[in-house]
This record gives sequence, C-alpha cells and structure tokens, in this order.
Amino acid sequence: MSFAFYLKTNLPAFARRAAIYAGNKPRFFTQTALLRNASVFPSLNTLTEEEAAIRETVTSFAQEIILPKVKEMDEKESLDKEILKGLFDQGFMGIETEPEYGGSGSTFLSAILVVEELAKVDPAISVVCDVQNTLVNTLFRKYGSDALRKKYLPQLATGKVGCFCLSEESAGSDAFALKTRADKKGDHYEINGSKMWITNSYEAEIFLVFANIDFDAKHKGITCFVVEKDFGVKVAKKESKLGIRASSTCTLNFDGVKVPEENVLGEVGKGYKYAIEILNEGRIGIAAQMIGLAQGAFDHALPYTLVRKQFGQPVGEYQGMQFQYAQIATDIEAARLLTYNAARLKQEGCNFVKEAAMAKLFSSQVAEHAASKAIEWMGGVGFTREFPGIH
Ligand SMILES: Cc1cc2nc3c(=O)[nH]c(=O)nc-3n(C[C@H](O)[C@H](O)[C@H](O)COP(=O)(O)OP(=O)(O)OC[C@H]3O[C@@H](n4cnc5c(N)ncnc54)[C@H](O)[C@@H]3O)c2cc1C
Repeated sequence: MSFAFYLKTNLPAFARRAAIYAGNKPRFFTQTALLRNASVFPSLNTLTEEEAAIRETVTSFAQEIILPKVKEMDEKESLDKEILKGLFDQGFMGIETEPEYGGSGSTFLSAILVVEELAKVDPAISVVCDVQNTLVNTLFRKYGSDALRKKYLPQLATGKVGCFCLSEESAGSDAFALKTRADKKGDHYEINGSKMWITNSYEAEIFLVFANIDFDAKHKGITCFVVEKDFGVKVAKKESKLGIRASSTCTLNFDGVKVPEENVLGEVGKGYKYAIEILNEGRIGIAAQMIGLAQGAFDHALPYTLVRKQFGQPVGEYQGMQFQYAQIATDIEAARLLTYNAARLKQEGCNFVKEAAMAKLFSSQVAEHAASKAIEWMGGVGFTREFPGIH
C-alpha cells in the first residue's frame, strides 16, 4: 500500500483525532499541515479532558465505594445493590449513550477506561459494566429502531441491567450452532430454548436473545430479539465460578416466551452478523478488564514486598525481585497500548478487528501471568483469602 493511499484512507480519522486533541476545539488540518505537524499526534496514553475526568471519577468510586465490599461480594457470590445503583447514578452504565436517552454521551475510549479502572479494584464489577456498555447498549445504538432505542436506552442508562444471550449448552465456540428457536405467531414471535453462561442475567431485566427463525437457512435464520424479564424469562441456574464471583453467570430458560414483532432488533436473519460485529468490539472491553486486573494485582502485591522483610531487608529490594517487577510492568504497559490503540481505531472508524483480537489475547495472557506473579511475590499470604485485604 502506498503512503498516498494510506493517507487518503486514514486522513479523515487522523484529522478528527488531531482536532480532538487540539484542546477539543475542532480545527481543520490540511494534509500538508498534518505532515509538517507530526507533533499534533498524541501518545496513546494521552487523554482528552473528558476522558481524564471520567477516569478520575471512576477511580474514586472504585476506591471509596467498591473496595470496601469486594471481599463480601466475592464470598457471597452476589452483586451489592448499592454498588449497582452507584454505577447507574455515576453514568457508568450508559457511557456512550446519547444524553437525550439519559446517557453520558462520551466516547468508546471512556468506556474502556471505566472498565479498566473498575477491574483494578474488582474485575467482577468491571464485567457488569463492560457487558452493559460494549455489548448491550451498543447493539441498541447500532441496530435498534428509533422506537427500540427510545424505549430501552434510557432504561439501560438509568436503572435496568441488560444481558447478551448467545451461548448455549451445545453452542459455545461454535456459537451459531444455537438451538433456541423463534416461531412467528401472528403479530409476535414465540421463543423456546435455553441459554447458558449469560453474564448479568441474574440481575437483568432486558435480554438480547439470539434465536433461529429458520433452521434451514442455518446461521442466516439467526435473529436478535429484545426480551423483557416480564415476558417470561426464567433463571434456571446461577453458576458458582472460580473468579469474578460477584458477577452473575446463569442458565436461562425460554418456554414459549412471547415477544412482539417490533422487538426484533435490526433485521430478521441478521443476528449472526450483529453478534460477530459486537463481539469484535466486546474484545476490547475484555482486554481492558484484563489490564485492570493485572494492574490491580501488581498494585496490591508490590507494597507488601516493600514491607515484608527476609534476610534483614524488604524482599522487594532484592534485585532478583525487581527484575520481575520491571517485566510485569512492561507487559502491562504493552497490553494497555494494544488495548487503547484498538479502542482508538474503533472510535476513529478504522478497521480494528485484528487489533481488538490481539489486544484481548495479549491482555488475557498478561493478566494471568501478573496475577500469578503477584501471588508468588507475596509468598504464603498470597495463597490465602486475606489478600488483597481491605485497606
Ligand atoms: C464467565 C463467563 C461469562 C460469559 N458470559 C457470556 C455472555 O454474557 N453471553 C454469552 O452468550 N456467552 C457468555 N459466555 C460463554 C462464552 O462465550 C463461552 O464460554 C465461549 O464461547 C466458549 O464456549 P464453551 O465454554 O462452550 O467452550 P467450548 O467451545 O466447548 O471449548 C472448549 C475448549 O475447546 C477449544 N476449542 C473449541 N473449538 C475449537 C477448535 N475449532 N479448534 C481448537 N480448539 C477449539 C476452546 O478454545 C476451549 O479451550 C461466558 C462464559 C464465561 C466463562
């Protein structure tokens, strides 16, 4: 690809970003000016004023409101109602949703920052927020009719939890092998089947359900329906998980659930396409959750090693330990840059599919390694349930 072609295809996004970072005042940059002023391109870590403000707010919320309840929620495997209310009150459950629908009207990167900051303190609360923003709200915003957006986005921004119902007992990696069916009956559809592993579904009141209306058409029969709890959704089983235990993951039953035809999200038969597209964006959210988790583990373990003395000095002062801190800190930074880059590409309207997958893959590996190292650095207490303790 030539540089000229590259510029032609990327310039609108470059110009938008340059304008955003020039103090939020839209300024026009010509192609030549952009080339001469390479310095107008900020680092990936540079945030707009709004993004920095959101990050500050969510950091305080996580430290002051969530942290004291992390251990209790994890042990009870339940999401504290006050924390959930707080997420809505702070505007964290409708970050990109337009203000006319009760949302914060902010950017995708802001959503990513919120997910990351929450995960530093509690990855379970982070995933609650992540699914609501990057999957549920985005599906409504991208594909919902005016009527559906008007009806559901305000509810999702201000008090109702939503969930994304794709996986089933025999449809995991092979998601489009789903067996849940939707049959047209006059002016409504009737949904029959079961969904499994559905995040937030214990608390949810709004369910985005993928069901097939025509199995002969294979994946092209898959359609997305907006289903309210009151239509007859039943929570069959809540999983007891190894981690993110405060976040609910349930099996759901749909036994002859009647859904009005206006509650088809987007077009009939396009559900598979919407699911693929939304999961591309969702990967960046999970990457953010992972970098938050990794940073949180690092931030908890390091101070302990600076007070824990062995052989007459803090273990954290031995160079053998410090080499490891440097490696993990570098890994986390690299994962963060991949994640922010993917988020910015998406926000700028560029192709981001490969970068989102890379961000999720690498961030998950870093999270696993960082968490494992954090346990190791703390010796025996790292293997107890006392740590991370409540400060
Ligand atoms: C905590 C949690 C929350 C979740 N939340 C949601 C949600 O909100 N909504 C939703 O719809 N789903 C959700 N899921 C489901 C998730 O998307 C599935 O777990 C995932 O798609 C994998 O499916 P599976 O668990 O059935 O694993 P399987 O598909 O059975 O895979 C088992 C193993 O086989 C490997 N494998 C599969 N196919 C291949 C292949 N072709 N080649 C090589 N290896 C392969 C997999 O990588 C994996 O290691 C959640 C899952 C978890 C654990």
